[in-house]
Amino acid sequence: MDKFNALQISKTDDGQNVGIVELGLDDLMEGDVMIRVSHSTVNYKDALAITGKGRIVRSWPMIPGADLVGIVESSSHAKYKTGDAVLLNGWGVGEGHFGGHSQMARVNGDWLIPLPAGLTPAQAMAIGTAGYTSMLCVLELESRGITPDKGDIVVTGAAGGVGSVAVAILAKLGYRVIASTGRASEADYLKNLGAAEIIDRNELSKPARPLAKPRWAGGIDCVGSHTLANVLAMTNPRGTVVACGLAQGMDLPSSVAPFILRAVALIGVDSVTEPYERRVQAYERLVTDLDASKIEAMATTVKLDAVEKAAHDLMDGNVRGRIVVELD
Ligand code: NDP
Repeated sequence: MDKFNALQISKTDDGQNVGIVELGLDDLMEGDVMIRVSHSTVNYKDALAITGKGRIVRSWPMIPGADLVGIVESSSHAKYKTGDAVLLNGWGVGEGHFGGHSQMARVNGDWLIPLPAGLTPAQAMAIGTAGYTSMLCVLELESRGITPDKGDIVVTGAAGGVGSVAVAILAKLGYRVIASTGRASEADYLKNLGAAEIIDRNELSKPARPLAKPRWAGGIDCVGSHTLANVLAMTNPRGTVVACGLAQGMDLPSSVAPFILRAVALIGVDSVTEPYERRVQAYERLVTDLDASKIEAMATTVKLDAVEKAAHDLMDGNVRGRIVVELD
């Protein structure tokens, strides 16, 4: 495919412009693997870039899309050959290097993993960075000994991409999941994913006291700010909270009380630069611990020409679960 379509964000005097452009292979950035992209996705970070609501783009013009899946067209990388199905999450793709909202991509082969056996390309993108981050969070809870018998797990931003996948994985693993959401209308959706209890996110979004009545053994927090502070203040002694997001804010107006009086642990997850082995491990677990029916229930599919609107919807909090972009 010498000519192909891509979504491009370009800088203008009064902000930025987003549109579909036709490009040639020579327009792509450097890399040792050329991929015919079949699917991508719209993550929170992609939506920030496309809407211009966050300073995500580091090189102009940019093709957004932090995730992609496709077939190798040509490669000089030792691990990959023509015809291989490959998957990419993160590594600054869609920020400083052209991303997955494009029918062709040229990338560094070290950023890729083989498409895991047991996942279709569309399923891999329904998982995407959001779902893979959820699994990294679950692995952190497990590594701290937070097993289902220890108590409930709270998931904040539960109806979003990371939250939806986290609810489904934790429920399948036997945890009792408390889903915190601002959308009461999504209660049935969250229960179908496996949530045992739904709480209104307003319960957690106001300034936190240093300590509150313990409610859960652990948490996966997509929201940050006061919400994370409240989650910490309500965590059982020796519990663990994994922080991965900032939907409410980047601040953390908390105190040391949960750490020094209850030995609560706060662990961070950064999916962008996780090493190859950890990525492969996370995807092996996603294949076994996330039901295909749940993946389908949380995914909406759009074509390239609907990506910009999807990004605005996501920023406005109107997207449930995950968005898959079909590029073929
Ligand atoms: P989504 O937009 O799909 O979900 C975010 C959810 O957060 C919303 O659906 C909403 O859930 C909740 N939310 C939104 N605004 C607020 C608010 N003001 N106060 C409280 N809750 C709010 O995004 P993702 O799930 O894809 O990403 C979630 C977060 O995780 C983002 O901040 C993203 O940047 C981060 N992230 C981090 C990664 C990492 O490697 N650390 C990787 C991937 C994402 P509800 O409607 O249920 O209330």
